Amino acid sequence: MTDYAVARQRMVAEQLLKRGIQDERVLQAMGKIHRHLFVEEALWARAYGDLPLPIGEKQTISQPFMVAFMTQALELKGNERVLEIGTGSGYQTAILAELAAKVYSVERIRTLAQRAMRRIESLGYYNVLIRVGDGSMGWKEMAPFDAILVTAGAPQVPIRLVEQLGEDGRIVLPVGPSEGQVLRKGTKKGVNVRWTDLGNCVFVKLVGEQGWND
Ligand code: SAM
Repeated sequence: MTDYAVARQRMVAEQLLKRGIQDERVLQAMGKIHRHLFVEEALWARAYGDLPLPIGEKQTISQPFMVAFMTQALELKGNERVLEIGTGSGYQTAILAELAAKVYSVERIRTLAQRAMRRIESLGYYNVLIRVGDGSMGWKEMAPFDAILVTAGAPQVPIRLVEQLGEDGRIVLPVGPSEGQVLRKGTKKGVNVRWTDLGNCVFVKLVGEQGWND
């Protein structure tokens, strides 16, 4: 086994399993995907650490536990159409691509989107579409979605995203002030959404019409 494979197995065992991640498919995907390939080479030695890392443009790749925790909350079985807001490095996108039928991902910063697209393609995921734009408005043409994951913090729940959720669809997103948010999960039932709070978190800002001002 390579050093990275060992580091990955240790990440799964110590950061995920021990902290209560139980979804076997999520654990498998986290154990499979080469996280170091989503950061610049100077950071490869720290890629499996218990922390977010810089990816350029003042943005970050989220801590592995947070990626696993949010993904688990989406309850993916394999046949879903998923919308991700905030492609960033493309790491979370790859995890979703392993676990769902189709992934639509929106990133507002072109250079990040292009880099992520190259990585995703080189890894052979053909079930991912990435576009540059304001993800706080969702991706109306591709709606409805079975699951929506937002990886940047919004001041309040963006109504357009909720509108693009299908029946029984799940949305997971950080909501609250820029210094710290609450991770919220909504499940759509008819015209209503049932909300639960999953705990505290800190994310970069969701910048856009239904998010923060630039
Ligand atoms: N999931 C990413 C990964 O695995 O690398 C990390 C995402 S990073 C914490 C948040 C991302 O959201 C940043 O890349 C940022 O540019 C993006 N973002 C912020 N506001 C956005 C918006 N309105 N639409 C799309 N992307 C946005």
